[in-house]
Amino acid sequence: MANVTWNVARCHVPHPGNIVPGTGRQEHFHPRFIKTFSKYRTPFPFHISRSNRPGNLASMGMASCNANVPERPSDFHRTVWGDFFINYSSEPLQAWKSEEWMTERANQLKEKISGLFEACTTPVEQLKLVDTLQHLSIDHHFNKQILTVLSSIQDTEFNSTCLHEVALRFRLLRQQGFRVSLDEFNRFKDENGNFNVHITNDARGLLSLYNAAYLFTHGEADLEEAILFARQHLESMRNNLEYPLAQQVNRALHLPLSRTLRRIEALHYISEYKAEPTHNSSILEFAKLDFDLLQRLHLKELKALSRWWKDLYSEEGLAYSRDRVVECYLWSYTAYYEKEYSRARMILAKIIAIIILTDDTYDVRATLEECRKFNEAIQRWEESAITLLPDYLKKLYLKLMNIFKEFEDELKPNEKYRVAFIRKAFQVLSSNYLQEAEWCHGGYKPRFKDQVKVSTVCSGAPFAAVGLLVGMGDDVATKEALEWATSCTDAVKAFADVTRFMNDLCSFKRGKNKNDVDSSVECYISEHGVTADVACAKIDSLVEDAWKTANRARIEHNELLPAVQRVVNITTSMPLMYGNNKDAFTFSDGLKGVIKRLFLEPVLL
Ligand SMILES: [Mg+2]
Repeated sequence: MANVTWNVARCHVPHPGNIVPGTGRQEHFHPRFIKTFSKYRTPFPFHISRSNRPGNLASMGMASCNANVPERPSDFHRTVWGDFFINYSSEPLQAWKSEEWMTERANQLKEKISGLFEACTTPVEQLKLVDTLQHLSIDHHFNKQILTVLSSIQDTEFNSTCLHEVALRFRLLRQQGFRVSLDEFNRFKDENGNFNVHITNDARGLLSLYNAAYLFTHGEADLEEAILFARQHLESMRNNLEYPLAQQVNRALHLPLSRTLRRIEALHYISEYKAEPTHNSSILEFAKLDFDLLQRLHLKELKALSRWWKDLYSEEGLAYSRDRVVECYLWSYTAYYEKEYSRARMILAKIIAIIILTDDTYDVRATLEECRKFNEAIQRWEESAITLLPDYLKKLYLKLMNIFKEFEDELKPNEKYRVAFIRKAFQVLSSNYLQEAEWCHGGYKPRFKDQVKVSTVCSGAPFAAVGLLVGMGDDVATKEALEWATSCTDAVKAFADVTRFMNDLCSFKRGKNKNDVDSSVECYISEHGVTADVACAKIDSLVEDAWKTANRARIEHNELLPAVQRVVNITTSMPLMYGNNKDAFTFSDGLKGVIKRLFLEPVLL
């Protein structure tokens, strides 16, 4: 399993390139976007590891962390997008079709597709329909029907001897939080527990087995073996497969389906689906229309969010902080892309922006004494606390209070109590930022366990997990769900661990500066006296553990499943940000292609 662990944590995530198809020409939007960003490396918004801080005192030639840091223009590279989304005006998505026409057509198709559930005569047909809808990212229109179908399938005996069908059933049920035993795969094994030779040529079956097995939980060594087995045979046949199976195998070997951003995978599958022998043209047309209609909504949100950020960022003297609002939106979008979660998406994007601002304030701008005062004010959370603060922090503090007030205003009367949960989560985040600052300024080397405890909170993930729920509906954001998210256990802890450890592996590979606080990798090396390779393998294994925890949470939290699913969704953004030990957020230029494909390029009918 060691090899699997290593490979997966380091797998590449394909980023759509910037080459215009068929022309070989480098595409660009505006000359100002073509910048080189070689001077500074900034990490994913959750956290600036010390080695990334542009104001890093060692890199500035200053001797001590306690030196007063003067206000200065930001050293972070400028926004890749500038005012692009503020100025962007959507042309009709498809020049010859109005939005009204598209909506009406989509509604007709949706009704037609609903009828397909009843037309299915076997569980296998039902499974394949659900899989298609999920793969094309249109399943959110058929949630009730899908749940009904999967419930009935779980209760029905399933005797298929087809590996693809058994694995598909296993994956779809587990994804939906149903318990399904790994013994299902024993029918493909011999008396010694080895997989039968006859399935080694079944590429589709092996791919399904591979993707299903990644829903493993702790103690399911058989599934880990299944991954190794499937990987080995898929790798040996990958060059002899036909389109589109070859493409699907290559992507999965890169990153298993359960860790892939669904909307990016959907874009691939929309272009491949027509080549599937059993494809349904109504489903394909609906998928394209739905993607384009949603894209229009996302563009409106990006415009509004960019305006909101511009007001905040330019007027409050926060130029020391990263200017990454479009990337914040992308991150929020990985939790939910559906129309009904527009409010939640906007609130979460703003919460991520708050994480960036606060993190940068602690790491880049404030002196240790200012960090202490800032935290004190955040814990008090009352306007009178501004007297503790220097002018630049007064402005930020009031602005933060206002943003929380804005959240409250956006919620219905019976939802307003949720704001207390995010305020508490923000206060916990702040305390942990201060702890890191104390360690850094004091030159203290924490124990691995202590470092992980603090730095996982500082990843911002626990705060984001609570924030993720705030704008959602009553069916998901219940008081129990908010309490669960606040407790930072299972799936939320897994979210924080994946974020922290993948970030730390990136930072470690980049190298650190003399005065940097130690990351989990460095703490592990010094505490256990091991090599960097051993420490990185250990951190990789902790990432794998976290995925198992996330998978288990889906099965164990039936009543909280909708909340758990969103947290797992957002966890899958980490391979995009940190895959291949590269920090795509640091060089946010690297996310430009993904952002263009998701939000700017219509899927043509
Ligand atoms: Mg930080």
